[in-house]
Formats: sequence, structure tokens, C-alpha cells
Amino acid sequence: MKEFMLFNPTSLDEAVELLGTDSSRAQLLAGGMDLLGRLKKRIDSPERVINLKSIPGLADIRDSQEGLSVGALVKLTELAEDSAVNAKYRALAQAAESVGSVQIRNAGTMGGNLCQKPRCWYYRHADFLCLQKGGTICYAQGGENRYHAILGGGPCFFAHPSDLAPAFIALDAQARIVGPKGQRSVAVEDLYRLPIIQLNGGLALEPGEILAEVRVPAPKANSRSTYLKFKEKPSFDFSLAGVAASVVMEGGKVSAARLALSGVSPVPWRPLDAEKILTGSPLNDATARQVADAIVEESVPLLHNRYKIPLTRTIVRRALLSLA
Ligand SMILES: Cc1cc2nc3c(=O)[nH]c(=O)nc-3n(C[C@H](O)[C@H](O)[C@H](O)COP(=O)(O)OP(=O)(O)OC[C@H]3O[C@@H](n4cnc5c(N)ncnc54)[C@H](O)[C@@H]3O)c2cc1C
Ligand code: SF4
Repeated sequence: MKEFMLFNPTSLDEAVELLGTDSSRAQLLAGGMDLLGRLKKRIDSPERVINLKSIPGLADIRDSQEGLSVGALVKLTELAEDSAVNAKYRALAQAAESVGSVQIRNAGTMGGNLCQKPRCWYYRHADFLCLQKGGTICYAQGGENRYHAILGGGPCFFAHPSDLAPAFIALDAQARIVGPKGQRSVAVEDLYRLPIIQLNGGLALEPGEILAEVRVPAPKANSRSTYLKFKEKPSFDFSLAGVAASVVMEGGKVSAARLALSGVSPVPWRPLDAEKILTGSPLNDATARQVADAIVEESVPLLHNRYKIPLTRTIVRRALLSLA
């Protein structure tokens, strides 16, 4: 690990100033579950590390009639165990519970989970200067790509690692961001951009911006949500294929639906055509099959990850039927 200066700001404005806009010189630290690994392997070697944990007021979960507010420093364990989150925002509690191991959930934060960098093994190896690190090649495309994307890939094919992101997207959440130009609010979905549009580890934050909070609107009457994922190691692992689903039911049919997939695309994947099929349909096995088939219809597997197609189909069906 290269030496760096550690800063402990006491406000977001101070953190923004210390961070600057050159990510090669300064990086934010939350729980460190992602950043410290990258520093140790010299994937990143910033001069300054800005510790967000010294800033008060970023670690609260607040539930009200308007909805839920989750501060960037809320730990994944807290999110998974919060009674209001479990009662009203089930997909979010399940997504938090599904992350890594107990140790990772006890240290990892909501903000760090949404802003973590690709888990592609070429990206995480200092000797591979791939597209995402300013090189000219995607080593995964013709290499070891069994964990990579089947949807929305190209020219980079990593599978987006966050479990919380699809849950927030299915729940129509908004992120509050502060940065050098002030404060803005953006749909969580728009925090991510496909690599064909932008190569920035999948994240669409502007240079120098910090995620402060995510707000989830209060659930509508007769709504339900869930998050399910397949993982290779049952004890702790990233998603091979997962889905967050949120539906509103009316007269035995789905009147509104939002879906977002994990583990299959460089962004949390929103299958808009499949949502249209779901909306207006009864929530039964025939609908679940139709929706799952529509999602994988667009998939373009690489040499070693074709298995993700049946996996995705199955997890989508299971998730939808669990909401029936
Ligand atoms: C063995 C292992 C298994 C894992 N399994 C899973 C899994 O199953 N599912 C899953 O989703 N994740 C998994 N992870 C990833 C882990 O959950 C995330 O890395 C963790 O949640 C990140 O949170 P953190 O607070 O530790 O982030 P940090 O490591 O502190 O930060 C992560 C990145 O986000 C940036 N950042 C942090 N906070 C902010 C902010 N507020 N605004 C802007 N940028 C910010 C940092 O600069 C850094 O680049 C796993 C990690 C490991 C090591
Ligand atoms: S998939 Fe993306 S992160 Fe992985 S080697 Fe290719 S360009 Fe790099």
C-alpha cells in the first residue's frame, strides 16, 4: 500500500473540498470493505483518503409518513435488522441481509455499497490495465468471464456488484448528492451508466461528488417487494443473478411494477419491457414465466456465462411468485 494522508472532516462541505475532483489523488473512505482492498493491491494509490465516518448525521435511518431516509453511513447490518425497513421495504432488508458475511455487513455502509468499484478479477489485479483502468482491452471478453454480464455488456462486461442498488431502484428511491456545484437529487437508477456510455466503474457521480442519503417513497397501499439472489458460496458471495421486484396489486392484478436485476449487467438492470408485461397481469406462474423469458430474451452471453440465463429466469420466477 502506498502512503497516504488521512483526513477526518466534520462536515460534507469540508469533505467535498478535501476530495477535490481528481480521483487519482483523493478517495473517500466509509467502511473500507472495498477501498482498503484496492489500496492494498495498489489498484488505487491516492495521496489523500477522506474518512466520511468523522462527519456527524450520516448514519441515521428515519422512517416517516413520506417514506424512508437512509444515511450514507448506515451499516448494512442496521439496514437488514431495522424493524421499519423489514415491515415496509422488504426488498431492501433482504438485499442488505444478502450482502457478504456478518463481518462485511457490520463494517460496510449503504453509501459504500452503492459506490463500490467493479469486482471483475482483471480489474482487481494490478497487472491488468483493462478498459476500466484506462487501458485499451477488456481482458474478460475473451478470457475468464464466468461471473460477467449477459445483459448490457460491451465494451466492458463486469457484473455490477451491489445488492442494495437493485432494491433501491425497485423501490423507486432517490439519492441526495453533494458536490463542488452544490446539492442535487437523482434517481438511484441514474447513479449508474452502461460502459458503452461511460467507463467510470459504472458510477455516474460527477468528479468530487459524495452520496449523502437515499430516500425511498412510502409504499403504496397493497404493495409488496422482495429481493432474491443466487450465489455460488451459500455462506457469503456476490450475486450471480438476482432480482428486486416491487409490485402494487389491485383486483387480483398487478397495477404497477418495478424490477431491477443484480449480477447480470454492468449496471443494476431495469427490464422495462418485462415490467410492461407484468403490469395489468395476474401474478401467477404463467405471468412469471412470460416476464422471466422476456428478460433473458435480450441476453448476449459470453463464452463461460451462458448458465446465467436459466439462473436469471429461475430467480425472476421465484421472486414474482413469492409476491403472489
Ligand atoms: C468478501 C467480500 C464479499 C462481498 N460480498 C458482497 C455481496 O454479496 N454483495 C454486495 O453488494 N457487496 C459485497 N461486497 C462488497 C461490500 O459489501 C461493499 O464493498 C461494502 O458494502 C462497501 O461499503 P464500505 O462502507 O465498506 O465502502 P468503502 O470500501 O469504504 O467504499 C467503497 C467505495 O465507495 C466510495 N464511497 C464510499 N462511500 C461513499 C459515499 N458516501 N459517496 C461516494 N462514494 C463513496 C469509496 O471511495 C470507495 O471507492 C463484498 C465485499 C467483500 C470484501
Ligand atoms: S469486464 Fe470491465 S473491468 Fe473487467 S477486464 Fe473488462 S473492462 Fe476491465
